[in-house]
Amino acid sequence: MLSSLTIAQAHEQLKTKKISSQELVQSCIDRIESVDKNLNAVVFRNFDRALEEAKRIDTQGTFDHPLTGIPYLAKDVYCEAGVPTTACSNILRDKTYIPPFDSTTKKRLKAVGAISIGKANTDEFTCGGSTEWSCYGVTKNPWDLTRVPGGSSGGSAAAVAADECLFALGTDTGGSIRQPASYCNCTGIKVTYGRTSRYGVMSFASSLDSIGTLAKTTEDAAIILGTIAGKDPLDATTGDIPVPDYRRDMKQDIKGLRIGLPKEYFLDGMDPEVDTAIRAAAKTFESLGATIVDISLPNTAYGVATYYVIAPCELSSNMARYDGLRFGHTAPKPKDLLDYYTRIRSEGFGPEVKRRIMIGTYALSAGYYDAYYLKAQKIRTLVRQDFDNAFNAVDVLLTPCAPTPAFTIGAHTNDPVQMYLEDAFTIPASLAGIPGLAIPCGFSKNTLPIGMQLLGPQFGESTLFRAGHAYEQATEWHKKRPTI
Ligand code: GLN
Repeated sequence: MLSSLTIAQAHEQLKTKKISSQELVQSCIDRIESVDKNLNAVVFRNFDRALEEAKRIDTQGTFDHPLTGIPYLAKDVYCEAGVPTTACSNILRDKTYIPPFDSTTKKRLKAVGAISIGKANTDEFTCGGSTEWSCYGVTKNPWDLTRVPGGSSGGSAAAVAADECLFALGTDTGGSIRQPASYCNCTGIKVTYGRTSRYGVMSFASSLDSIGTLAKTTEDAAIILGTIAGKDPLDATTGDIPVPDYRRDMKQDIKGLRIGLPKEYFLDGMDPEVDTAIRAAAKTFESLGATIVDISLPNTAYGVATYYVIAPCELSSNMARYDGLRFGHTAPKPKDLLDYYTRIRSEGFGPEVKRRIMIGTYALSAGYYDAYYLKAQKIRTLVRQDFDNAFNAVDVLLTPCAPTPAFTIGAHTNDPVQMYLEDAFTIPASLAGIPGLAIPCGFSKNTLPIGMQLLGPQFGESTLFRAGHAYEQATEWHKKRPTI
């Protein structure tokens, strides 16, 4: 099946004319048509347009860039001109919002001839860790259809794992690329805040949101990031820092690399199989010439509480634009303006987004701002300083992505705090704005994937790719595929 190729493999075959882009796109379409009724990973299909695009690219016949002619899915928060984009929310699904412009990431992918075949499921406005909060219904984990794929980029992760596409765009605000990558056995890169442009991607929490990707290998993730990263005049938070040649740099060995194991990420309550898999990964790194160093990040325990103040505050502000006046859901025959707003927003938003709007609005209100938002920002600085100190002693940190493998659908939907605790290992890096790479590193005894997380200093993506690539060369975990 062509859709199971990596980007690097497909590129070789396209270049040598062994396959055409049309065949590659068709293979993804066939795969989606045969398995997505079980998965529900794809919420919008743009197949005709994708095939037309592939034909155009085949006719041109130049495959100079590794992404030319490569089909992908985008999480349903990436705006693409003329293509419905709903953030998996009824507030935009009703009267289907169709953006008149491309996000910068889409534009950069288009420029090299990558082909968008559709949109992937997500928790509404990316608020969640299981893809259960989508107006299109839950995505199933391809390794076990009774379990969640993680979230919020669960549609993207499930689609990559099930070979419905060659890669998928995701976003990560508090773990939404790394945790689903780990639950579905994909490689996922969450970048340094400001490494990629957020322009044209629907916001959740603006000081935390980052644009990244889910892929089948570290090499593929490096190819994609090398294409989408860099300064964007349309996003003032992007850094004017040169984009390294990640794919070339990743090939150096890791002899002498200092890898820290932070003790706060190995908790009593976590699944012992996760603990075992991460410690085994540390041994593999050692055998490749790295040094393992025990380290402490003392403020880790405050991460979840800090994030769940900052993120809802910023969400409540970002959601204010959905007022039903200019686009999206409307209410017929309102009594007055207040009735109109109340109906739009109570009908349009789902339960998790509403919960967060209420928490955020409360925490930002006069009298509470200092006690909650400002306090949380101060703790955020402490979390950041922990990482700064750690990176004086080590080059990268090795941790689990999540305390458990994928949980059962419905397990946490009535207990939001339990759901939030699943984010304990991904949130600190988001608060600090540093990059994280998720890589498959084992399976539980009931064949659920387990992922590790490699964290690096700001703009240290190259080192993460180098470590990830070395690990993938030495192991087979990332090659395993679910049977569906
Ligand atoms: N699970 C986290 C949350 O619910 C992270 C979401 C994200 O990164 N978009 O907020």
